[in-house]
Amino acid sequence: MRISHLLRAGFLGSLAIASAAGCLALQDDASNAAGAAGCFACSGFLIFIVLAAIAINVAILVWVARDAKARGMDNAVLWMLVVFFLGIIGLVIYLLVRPQGNMILCPNCGNKKLQASVKCPHCGAGS
Ligand SMILES: [Zn+2]
Repeated sequence: MRISHLLRAGFLGSLAIASAAGCLALQDDASNAAGAAGCFACSGFLIFIVLAAIAINVAILVWVARDAKARGMDNAVLWMLVVFFLGIIGLVIYLLVRPQGNMILCPNCGNKKLQASVKCPHCGAGS
């Protein structure tokens, strides 16, 4: 009983010493720790950039879909795919290809539509 108690205390004591030594070793290697922290911050920054890029992409895709629909293009989804796969090049192509003209608010539904279009692409009302 007594011996097992002592053994247990010894085991715990050696564990404490080992963990303290490990801690000291980590603190000793301060430059390595700083490097790891810098790497962590760097990867966090990269993740932020990737998330921001995805958010901008989604915003552009939504804008293209709305703009294409407002201009009476029935292939808005196709243009979304073009911009999605070609990125900024696809966006430039869309801006060149889309029907040009002034956008006005539909008097019937209040959505944007081309001034030149006879029928509103949103509600179908003739102007
Ligand atoms: Zn309308």
